[in-house]
Amino acid sequence: MSPQSEPLNRPYEECGVFGVWGVPNASALTALGLHSLQHRGQEAAGIISYDNQRFHQHKGLGLVGDVFGDSRVTAALPGSMAIGHNRYATTGGTHVRNVQPFYADYAFGGLGVAHNGNLTNAATLKKALVKRGCIFHSSTDTEVFIHLIAVSLYSTVLDRFIDAVKQVKGAYSLITMTPDDGLIGMRDPLGVRPLVLGRIPGYEEGNGGWVLTSETCALDIIGADYVRDIEPGEIVVINENGIRSLRPFGDQGGRFCVFEYIYFARPDSVLEGQAVYETRKRIGAELARESAVDADVIVPVPDSGVPSAIGYAEESGIPFELGIIRNHYVGRTFIEPTDQIRNLGVKMKHSANRPVLAGKRVVLVDDSIVRGTTSRKIVDMVRAAGATEVHMRITSPPTRHPCFYGIDTPEENKLMAATHTLEQMAEAIGVDSLAFVSFDGLYRALGHENRAEGSRRYCDACFTGDYPISLVDKEGNLVVGE
Ligand code: SF4
Repeated sequence: MSPQSEPLNRPYEECGVFGVWGVPNASALTALGLHSLQHRGQEAAGIISYDNQRFHQHKGLGLVGDVFGDSRVTAALPGSMAIGHNRYATTGGTHVRNVQPFYADYAFGGLGVAHNGNLTNAATLKKALVKRGCIFHSSTDTEVFIHLIAVSLYSTVLDRFIDAVKQVKGAYSLITMTPDDGLIGMRDPLGVRPLVLGRIPGYEEGNGGWVLTSETCALDIIGADYVRDIEPGEIVVINENGIRSLRPFGDQGGRFCVFEYIYFARPDSVLEGQAVYETRKRIGAELARESAVDADVIVPVPDSGVPSAIGYAEESGIPFELGIIRNHYVGRTFIEPTDQIRNLGVKMKHSANRPVLAGKRVVLVDDSIVRGTTSRKIVDMVRAAGATEVHMRITSPPTRHPCFYGIDTPEENKLMAATHTLEQMAEAIGVDSLAFVSFDGLYRALGHENRAEGSRRYCDACFTGDYPISLVDKEGNLVVGE
């Protein structure tokens, strides 16, 4: 079950991180940054700031606006350095004690940490740490970092940090802050999860204005310029001495999560040099070339299907229409109370635009099919609005494997594409035809001739089962929290 107590009908995002160094009101900027990363996690939000003497923190369950909407909250988080986190629970439950950033008060000073992603050996490490006497306060794998730093035999915080990250395996982006080292950012050795560096103009004196965050949309909201992506395995240290880059893992080649382009990232973000919006349009155009069908309208399943549907419509010459309208104001609490209301969930989130659909042959463009239950409800809704034919086009290859790298997906036997043929899926969803973008089409849209060209640059394990990072806990049948 997902943390929302709804079945997972689509993959869910996996947290957003934000950190800023060398600006007044660092916590207010962090709240804004988290607001623009809201799509990466809606369960909880938190900020820790440092005012050159003390750390201050505030965390809460709910949306960023619920937790930090009152300016008095950020006013009580003074300092020129802050880190923040939006939580979507991929490990651990819905408890305030699991809300990040985490703070640790070591003998050598305080440290805050915000983490996005999953460690694949968290349970293995946790078991060993508990044996050594470590007491865990949360059920998240993020706390493993805190304890690994605590028990490290190195003397400096930075060396302890490097010692810790060398022991973990997984897909993650990390931002930590300490009084002596300043802001420390890191991406996992294969760069599966994103982390970008930006700078706010006007703070160059004193080397201030640096920002680390999951996506460039969080730079835009605070008026920061994009500088570059943090490289896979790179550690950056930002303080009054400037910005320093360390590469303790060497160059292992990147395997960025391809699903960030398909679905997770905000369309106005630029990831690894590729604009998400344009990439989605190109995937839609590839789909149109690969699986053309006679139709009257191209209709996106909002919101992530919109850019791809535009690309499909442009390539096919068939008009793009908003045949499904999304209600942006549906709260999760509405969906939870009773089975009857939960079953209405799709209609509460989406409604059919009858004048656009009635009497038309419709191509629906969506990003993925997970369990297939949402797709079925949307197709039924479009038919009930009078569509004469419904064809579904999916902008990812079939999702046949779960993600162990920080994206919440159901187990394999709950994934429709793992248990059904294409024809069976089409029948179960109730469409006249169903097609997924091919691997080569997807890779062409990402600027590669095909998937086999050169060294692969992406993680695509949820489509291929080819997991680039070893699944240590899974192989040992260990679960975080045990
Ligand atoms: S398994 Fe899929 S969702 Fe998970 S990191 Fe890899 S590409 Fe992304």
